[in-house]
Amino acid sequence: GKFLEKFGAPVEQIDELVLANHILANENVVDSFGHISLRNPKNPNQFFLSCSRSPELVSADDIMEFDLEGNSVDGSTLRPYGERFIHGSIMEARPDVQSVVHNHSLSVIPFTVTETKLQPIIHTGAAIGKNIPVWDIYDKFGDTDLLVRNIDQGRDLARTMGNSNVVLMRGHGCAVTGRTIKEATLTAVYLQIAASVQLQSMPLGKIRYLTDGETEKCTEMFYSDLSMDRVWETLARRVTNN
Ligand code: MN
Repeated sequence: GKFLEKFGAPVEQIDELVLANHILANENVVDSFGHISLRNPKNPNQFFLSCSRSPELVSADDIMEFDLEGNSVDGSTLRPYGERFIHGSIMEARPDVQSVVHNHSLSVIPFTVTETKLQPIIHTGAAIGKNIPVWDIYDKFGDTDLLVRNIDQGRDLARTMGNSNVVLMRGHGCAVTGRTIKEATLTAVYLQIAASVQLQSMPLGKIRYLTDGETEKCTEMFYSDLSMDRVWETLARRVTNN
């Protein structure tokens, strides 16, 4: 009700954003921290994001609207996430991006703090892409609490990300993009799985990663409606069953 009254935003998309919060929590991609945003389909200069709340507890009433610099534009008195700047900065730099996930996945962190590169290793995890950049907040901002707390830090992160689907954040986590909520959510889920598989494979010896051609073809398959809808349906059901 609130959305139709306040913004005229499509209620199904807000519902999908809420469900994405629950899926990411249920798959342990996010814990008490982490978030997912949706660019406003009717106004590309604004985006939707929950107020500061654990993703598994988010409901439609928690969703706020921001401009790309992270200012609340809906007159809400709810408390926003401190790291909302991640979302607007990436959307500002990347008109193709409609949804951004930020998380602290424990499987991903080792690849943010070592020289070992995260690389495409399984067909369902190819969408993480090749040459995944690692952003180190220290390089430009020195000693911080590692959180992306302002637009300058967000823009620096987005610059490092470039055209990648994923950017790793040293000692912190990652940001994942999508052309839809489903793409961003499911790429984040399979990023975590791919990182775990690489961690499990490394002690066993030399790894045969996906070739560049395989990475492209597997990404295309993963992003097909058939694949996206099937995985989404499964993960949504898991949420409902819990
Ligand atoms: Mn964070």
